[in-house]
Amino acid sequence: MPKGKVAIVTGASRGIGRSIALALVAEGARIVAVDMAPEGVEALAAEIKAMGGEAIAIQGNVTVPADAERMVDAAVEAFGRLDILVNNAGITRDALLLRMKDEDWDAVLTVNLKGAFLCSRAAAKVMAKQRYGRIINIASIVGQMGNAGQANYCASKAGLIGLTKSNARELAKRNVTVNAVAPGFIATEMTEVLPEKVKHELTAQIPLERLGSADDIAHAVLFLAAERSAYITGQVIGVNGGMYM
Ligand code: NAP
Repeated sequence: MPKGKVAIVTGASRGIGRSIALALVAEGARIVAVDMAPEGVEALAAEIKAMGGEAIAIQGNVTVPADAERMVDAAVEAFGRLDILVNNAGITRDALLLRMKDEDWDAVLTVNLKGAFLCSRAAAKVMAKQRYGRIINIASIVGQMGNAGQANYCASKAGLIGLTKSNARELAKRNVTVNAVAPGFIATEMTEVLPEKVKHELTAQIPLERLGSADDIAHAVLFLAAERSAYITGQVIGVNGGMYM
């Protein structure tokens, strides 16, 4: 498990990112918590310190190349290394294809896919030199199976799976593994906005008969982040209650 390891988690202030950061702390990792707004990550860093852990908060936008570099520099400056990058920041701008606006397409592709590219490129420089690293991309079940009303989001997450495999092949010789976790439908603010009827219909399609929790995703991230997972790279782990097999 990642004892003493240094982990960047993007989109850490709430939802799945927050659970991932706290799960890594519970295993002894030191955290660089990144988010657009400073308040959430500052509160999280304070909470981690109060638990006896180590964390710094970085206000940063994953779509800005200089911010991606800055979060990696901050990890190295504060903790001397960077072992784990969790590309978790993500957004939705749902609309049916015929009504989807260009700016909704661009916004989702830019955060979900380009953001992961920028952060991976910045992190890979340090990890390759160290000859150690774990990059974990938070994709989505809908990147594997599609979903009406989410052309932009599904394309971004399918693209993230392609990025995962390409980076896994490139970085393997430097002992850096790159994997994706593809959550099913998880109870967070992102899915809270769905009408109850839609949530019921979704649950009916899930063999395990419930939406997932943020902790369900964090457990899979911990598994991939572990030193012992050294021989797993380029994989997509579905954490979806059996909804997609
Ligand atoms: P969430 O509650 O909406 O949290 C996303 C976090 O990412 C927010 O804190 C958000 O900050 C941050 N963020 C957005 N754009 C950013 C940017 N450009 N730079 C830095 N941070 C940014 O979402 P979630 O449900 O926890 O989802 C986390 C990840 O899991 C996402 O990649 C999502 O696509 C994926 N996922 C979620 C589900 C689900 O059912 N919830 C299913 C499959 C995959 P702000 O608060 O400032 O917006």
